Amino acid sequence: MPRAETEFSFELRTCRWVEREWRPAASDCPIIVARQLGTKRRRWDTIVLECDPDGLRQRAKFGPERLDGDLLHVVRNAPAEWAYYRDALPHPGYPWRYVRETIHRADDRGVVETRRNGNRIEIRRTWEYPDWLERIVAIENKPDLDKSAARALASQLEYDVAMGLADEVWVATRATGERVEPVLFEDLPVEVGILALDPEALTGEIAWHPRTLAVDDRGTRILERPDGGTRDGSAARFEYVDPETKVDKRLAIAERAYERGWRSFVDTMRHDCRHFQLRAPDSRQALPYCAANDRSQSAAECSGSCADFEPEPPVWRTSGWPIEGGPGKRVRKILEKRRRRRRPDL
Ligand code: SF4
Repeated sequence: MPRAETEFSFELRTCRWVEREWRPAASDCPIIVARQLGTKRRRWDTIVLECDPDGLRQRAKFGPERLDGDLLHVVRNAPAEWAYYRDALPHPGYPWRYVRETIHRADDRGVVETRRNGNRIEIRRTWEYPDWLERIVAIENKPDLDKSAARALASQLEYDVAMGLADEVWVATRATGERVEPVLFEDLPVEVGILALDPEALTGEIAWHPRTLAVDDRGTRILERPDGGTRDGSAARFEYVDPETKVDKRLAIAERAYERGWRSFVDTMRHDCRHFQLRAPDSRQALPYCAANDRSQSAAECSGSCADFEPEPPVWRTSGWPIEGGPGKRVRKILEKRRRRRRPDL
């Protein structure tokens, strides 16, 4: 079994562990796992969406692609009966001509209907946008949490706790087997849960339970903090974030997670390189592996700038090429199929 050597492969093993073992409080609550998502200021390694089962099935009607913030504004407010769009939608806070563009995009995707009434555009919803998201859980993956990594992580976690955008925040770290996991001695916020994960055996122990964060309350965004050591008495700078903005941001993150899932790493890696392989630590997970370097590579390494990149030879593609493509294309298909299976009713 290949060892999860890099932070990237640890992250993929965390995603797989979550997919297998995560137990939301409501037992019939499906989950969606995604990675590397968040806001402009803060990106989480792993995200778990706990979803309402009926809502999630309804969400599938809107297609596998995400609805971005502009589309959500239209789709969530589109009326059941025909109405002039300016009467039906709340003012977006930017010029109406941009809303018209979004309405046409929504129409092209079949998620609202439009018609002309004189020179007015009227809209009507195709389906009601469902309330499908129950909770967001954010997980930071730090397989080897030394002192300096813990310090950097602590300020990121303080930001998460103050903002309260995710319902729970966790740190996943490599299990050491010690009686008390060393991570518990680090100065991390007490609201943050700690998961001690054995990425090879894919077993996890909760070393510390998280607290539920106040996602419905006003959040505090920390903009700047004193960094002159213990003697620095200067004040932190922060701003408040109202609950409505948090709702919009949570939904925008959830929509991106819905679209991407966590196996989307194949989109950014060079699966068309002759050295790219998938190796399976268990029957349901395929991790990227680089035959040139004889180890699992990170997503950053496996890019067009990799010195060892070699395109897969055309002869590999001869059976069925160009319809089927070569091994690279097959790798992509396998992962896309698995990714799709996780979203019911698509
Ligand atoms: S050689 Fe480079 S591009 Fe090819 S699989 Fe390895 S890391 Fe990726």
